[in-house]
Amino acid sequence: MRVNANEVNRMVDLLQLTGINKKVSSSGGGEYAGPCPLCGGTDRFRVQPFGPEGGKWFCRGCGEGRWHSPIDFVMMRDKVDFKNAVAKLTGVSTPINQPPQQVKTNDKDKWNEAATKFLSESKLSFLDAEKAIDWLAKRGLLIETVCNAQIGFNPEDHYGDPVKWGLSPTEKIWLPRGIVIPCFHDQQLKYLKIRRPSGDPKYYIVKGSTGFIYGGNTFKNALTAFLFESEFDALLAYQTLPGVGSASLPAGNSIHPEWQPIFDPIQDLIIAYDQDAEGLRAAEKLIEAIPAIHKAGTLPQGKDLSEYFQSGGDVLDWLLSELDNLEGAK
Ligand SMILES: [Zn+2]
Repeated sequence: MRVNANEVNRMVDLLQLTGINKKVSSSGGGEYAGPCPLCGGTDRFRVQPFGPEGGKWFCRGCGEGRWHSPIDFVMMRDKVDFKNAVAKLTGVSTPINQPPQQVKTNDKDKWNEAATKFLSESKLSFLDAEKAIDWLAKRGLLIETVCNAQIGFNPEDHYGDPVKWGLSPTEKIWLPRGIVIPCFHDQQLKYLKIRRPSGDPKYYIVKGSTGFIYGGNTFKNALTAFLFESEFDALLAYQTLPGVGSASLPAGNSIHPEWQPIFDPIQDLIIAYDQDAEGLRAAEKLIEAIPAIHKAGTLPQGKDLSEYFQSGGDVLDWLLSELDNLEGAK
């Protein structure tokens, strides 16, 4: 499976990237307006996010009278060259869905040490976190799966010591209460995400984390794999059908060219994103960019696999029927 870096413009959700959300007309598949994130004003900035070539934007102030691409936007906003803009958009250090929290740490080793320590403590706390254990069990996850995934629990909101986390002393490292989900790849800790019991955002990515595909290790001995939006769905699918790969990547993120080796063994990737507008749009974009992707059929109930399980659905049955459909399509 090949990922074409030139597809980046088509994969980016330009509304999310620019923060513009007011629809003003239906030209070009829908046009949105607002102040320019680069030069201000009130409605000088226009976005047509759903064009056949991907999203494009226009600014009466700084746009030199023509339409621009998402990559142009990042080049101008961050004052970086084309290559760096592409790297930013493809999400290794800045997943598109959560830009403000993604600060690249200057000292990865320190971050790793602090994150590993925090995770070890969270794993100990998890043993007493009855509500969290219960919450995960209700989503179909066996304790064995949770332990293998090294899931932990952080009992209270607090701030870490930024210096110990490899950040500058003036930065804040917030560690909210909740279920701690680590993403490892080849024994390396890539990110820590915390599922908070309440509050927005529901899922918080700990500062200094690296955006990465979750569960890529399960692709190693598989020919077919599922790609979900959430870690819990990926874990539930893998627990149910271990012979098939199961990973997750938040909607709106593209598959980074550096992850290519992870995808190499996979002949068929079934994308099972959430059945809401954002998930469906993100799935369509991935399918356009990567020919070997197949879209999963609609779940009989629920917007994702966990919800399907909770509504009494038979997860194994659904996964197997997806594999059957794949065979049938060949
Ligand atoms: Zn402007």
